Amino acid sequence: MGKRWFGLIAAGLLVVGITLPAAPAMAAPTFKVPFPCGQTWSGQTRTNHSPAYAVDFNRTDDLGDPVVASAPGTVDRVTDLGGTSYGKYVRISHAGGYHTYYAHLNGFNVSVGQSVGYGKVIGWVGSTGGSTGPHLHYEQRLNGSDIQVRFNGALALYWGTKNYTSDNGCGSSTGSGTVNTSGTALTVRSGPGTGYAAVGTVADGAQVTIYCQTSGTSVTGTYGTSTIWDRIGTDRFISDAYVYTGHDGYIPNVPRC
Ligand SMILES: [Zn+2]
Repeated sequence: MGKRWFGLIAAGLLVVGITLPAAPAMAAPTFKVPFPCGQTWSGQTRTNHSPAYAVDFNRTDDLGDPVVASAPGTVDRVTDLGGTSYGKYVRISHAGGYHTYYAHLNGFNVSVGQSVGYGKVIGWVGSTGGSTGPHLHYEQRLNGSDIQVRFNGALALYWGTKNYTSDNGCGSSTGSGTVNTSGTALTVRSGPGTGYAAVGTVADGAQVTIYCQTSGTSVTGTYGTSTIWDRIGTDRFISDAYVYTGHDGYIPNVPRC
């Protein structure tokens, strides 16, 4: 009898356990500090702020400093409210019903409809609108409602002032290419030029990962004449003149070495 009761209670708890959790929300974008990689800014939250969860960012001599997109998205507002409210502000629409706001800007570097990624400069810190000094007023919203700000998933300090260091746009994206020499293996050099030591070869048709690109010796190859060299490993470079990357010249988003 005791066992049966226990079983019934356990079954009841199990049902409760299954029914309680809310439907999982769509994952939030990974928002990053809205300034270039490596910069440290003081972010202030306060209970009398409007809206309440907005963060005001400052650092020394910040007037005119670049403001970057907090996460990938599409710019859906580039608006100048004049001497009131946000003044010059940008809004970015992100996946899952999220928006970010960047207000009191000095100027704009994007237009409505533009796709932006991490690290993209969208404007410059200013003191436009209802602002008494240069700063960035920053908001995250979900379905239109002001939400507590998170960077890399970590909640901002509520309430108070804290330093935030940006890792926005730090992650170097890589490119890829296909070596095309029409037969012979391509010499890999220890640096970006034919004067560097040969440190190996890559076969015709090989797929390579390109970590960064730089300018070096001019080489005439399968794809014309180019001074671009691709770094495909540690101290391993090949001439871009023999690599099909889908781009003439430098590959967008692949860093310079
Ligand atoms: Zn503010």
